[in-house]
Order: sequence, then C-alpha cells, then structure tokens
Amino acid sequence: MKNLPLHWKIIIGLVLGIIWAFAASALGWNQFTRDWIDPFGVIFIRILKFIAVPLVLFSIISGISGLKDISKLGRLGAKTLGIYLVTTIAAVGVGLLLVNLIKPGALVDEDSRIKNRLAYEAWADETEGVEILDGKYLSGDEAYAEFMDDARIAAASGADVAEAKMQAAAKAKEQGPLSFLVEMVPENIVFSISNNALMLQVIFFAIFFGVSLAAVPDEKVKSVKKFIDGTNEVFLKMVDVVMQAAPFFVFALMAGVLANMADTPGEVFEIFIGLGSYSIVLTIGLAFMIFVFYPLILISVVKEMSYKEFFKRISPAQFLAFSTSSSAATLPVTMECVEQNIGVSRNITGFVLPIGATVNMDGTSLYQAVAVIFLAQLHMVDLSLGQQLTIVLTATLASIGSAAVPSAGLVMLIIVLQSVGLNPLWIAIIFPVDRILDMIRTVVNVTGDATVSTVIAKSEGELNYQP
Ligand code: ASP
Repeated sequence: MKNLPLHWKIIIGLVLGIIWAFAASALGWNQFTRDWIDPFGVIFIRILKFIAVPLVLFSIISGISGLKDISKLGRLGAKTLGIYLVTTIAAVGVGLLLVNLIKPGALVDEDSRIKNRLAYEAWADETEGVEILDGKYLSGDEAYAEFMDDARIAAASGADVAEAKMQAAAKAKEQGPLSFLVEMVPENIVFSISNNALMLQVIFFAIFFGVSLAAVPDEKVKSVKKFIDGTNEVFLKMVDVVMQAAPFFVFALMAGVLANMADTPGEVFEIFIGLGSYSIVLTIGLAFMIFVFYPLILISVVKEMSYKEFFKRISPAQFLAFSTSSSAATLPVTMECVEQNIGVSRNITGFVLPIGATVNMDGTSLYQAVAVIFLAQLHMVDLSLGQQLTIVLTATLASIGSAAVPSAGLVMLIIVLQSVGLNPLWIAIIFPVDRILDMIRTVVNVTGDATVSTVIAKSEGELNYQP
C-alpha cells in the first residue's frame, strides 16, 4: 500500500467514497455521513483554495521575472490565448455535432414533447416584448409551472435553485461589452487577493509586477526575487503535503456529495434514468475530448511522450478535478503535476495554467452547447443555423466567463439559452444531474489546460520530459 502510486490511492479513496455513500443511504446513515465525513471534504477544498491564490501570485511573478527575454512574454500570451480559444470553439463544435446527430431530446416520448412545445409557446407569447429577466417573469410563469408538473422530470427541486441562478446570470448580463476588460483590472490588490473569484485580477497584478520586477536592475531587487522564489517553493511544498492525505479527503468528498444529493440509492438512479439520453450524449462528447481530441493535439506536437504516459502523470489532478468539481481548487495540483511529473518549466506552468483555469473551459463550453440543443429538442424547438452559430459564440464567451467553481457552467447556461430566445428556467430540468456531469466536465477543463501548457512548453523549448 505504501508504495502504491498516488493516483491509485486516490482512485481507491474515490471508489470507497461511492461505496460508502450507497451503503450509508441503504442503512440510513446519511445524516452521519453529512455530520462526520462530509466536513473533511469541505476542509480539503478550503485548504486547496487558500493555497491557490498565493500560489498563482508567486508563481506568475517568479515565472515572469525569471524570463530572460521579456518580449517572449507577449508571444507567450498571444499563443496561450489563441490556443485556448481554438480548443474552446472546437469543443462547442463537437458538442453541437453530437447533439444534432443523436438528438437525445427527441428520444423523449412524443406526448410530453408536444406538451412541452405548447408550454413553450405560451411562455413565448407571455414574455414577448417583456425584458426577459424582469421581475414579472421571474416571479412566476404559470405556463412553465404547468409544464414542470406535467413533464414529471425530476426537476421540482431545481426550480427554486433555477430562480436564484437566474438572478446571478441577470447580474452578469447587465454589464456592457467591455466589462470583462474592466473586471480584469484590480482596484485594490489586497481585496482581489482576498477573493478567489477575482483570480483574473490577481493574474493581471502578478504579470504587471513580474514585468516591472524584471525591468529593475538585478542588484536592487535580488532579495525580492529570492523571497518570491522561496515563498513559491513553500506553497508548492504545502501542495505536496496535502496531496499525501488526498486519498482520504477524496473519500470524504465523494461520500459527502452523494449523501447530499439523494436520500436513497434508488433516487440517484431514478434521477439518471429521466435524463439518461442527455447525460450519455454529454458524456460521450466529454470522453471524446479526453481520449481523442487532446491526445491528437499532444501526439502531433510532443512526439517523445505517449498519451498514456501523459495521462498517468497528470492523473492526480484529473481525479481531484472529478472529486472537487472545481478547476480553481485543483489548480495547485495541476501546476505541480505538469511541472514535476511532465517536466514543463515553471515559466510556462506559472503563466499558462492559472490563466487556463480561469478562461479555458472546454468541458463547460461543450456542455453548454449540448444542454441548450437538448432542451430545445425536448420542447420541439428547431434552431436555425444562425441560432446554432449564436450558440457557438455565446457558449464560448460564457465558458470563458464561468468561474472555476462547482456549477458555474450552469449559471452561465442561462445566458446561452437567452441568446437564442429560449426559456432560461429550463435549467431546472437538467439540474438534477448537473453535479455529476460537472465533475466530468471539470476533468475535461483541467486536462485541456494541462495539454495546452505542455504543447506550449514544447514549442518554446521549455519541456524537459524524462521518460
Ligand atoms: N466546475 C467547472 C470548473 O470548475 C465549471 C463548470 O461549472 O462548468 O471547471
């Protein structure tokens, strides 16, 4: 057991967590799980989160100030953003292709779909000319409520949550076209550092600080650089220490998540059966990204490494992404795996991965494309080519704008639905299966970041892979 590689220990923790959750709900121990096991999962996420911000701060500054040629930074930045954008758009394309080919929404029985269609038309009539997110609409929509009863899809509990999420999306929508640029610039760096949601502001500050540090003569800032490099090492060590206990924490996380989802094992299955076709299509798309898309990119650029080997070396980050559903919480471990196991230089990991965790979410963008079309199919709404292209655009932007935390993609889905005139409250329909699918899409998000950083390192001559 002692010599077992970490990723195997994590898998064992994960499986034991799932077994525990099912056994506990069969034996009526759910409350025990929530009270005595779930808190350890929460503690784990808290530790990872508090490490993430300082680690990003120090590793970016240390990476940039260590660059021999500062003009390299502009090229690196353009390359990073360019590749991230291409992979995200490709992911939306894969999602659209699959959902249009398999048509999971059309597999639902005809009668329900006709009812859904009528409810949709009633909703469309009622909301015509009404600002889509105004109070009237939010406060209740009879046609929709009726549909929710009729459809008998396990969405009842999702309806309230849907309203709360709508308000979050409304806030995001109110902003102007350049607000994303404004949001990147910190007003008060102490405030930004104290808030995990403001990671982009921390990145902005760190790049600016790093570039300025590199521009000051070495003898004046030698000790500052030493301090930053040293502190960075300490945070990396903290990740190392926490990872030793990761198998136990992952066990607690899995047991807790499942115990909070449903009271009986049967409930979990029921939830899945109702939304089975959607979940399967989405899972196929996400698996395609992991097992076909990224391997193709990787083997065409990095010839010396097999994808299997790549997979093995980043697997602790993938399992963690699965159990935390958060790319931000996984970031410290992703950085460690890519740097120490794959051999990507710190200049690259410190810059490419934190940006990736916040803006590159291929799994999320693919999910948004599949979810919107599935919901339209379920309501017998045909979307034109123009509308599908709008989805490419909005799903790409919405995934960039999604925070790297659980369920962020679901909130942004509202904006994608609205962009093509669909009822945003439909998110309640897919809500019951969202947490599990969120786990899978987060693995895609993290794998995408790791792949792109490896490819960039190779192209910059900064990959030191040891077979
Ligand atoms: N949970 C995802 C992540 O952290 C975002 C999402 O909800 O899609 O990457």
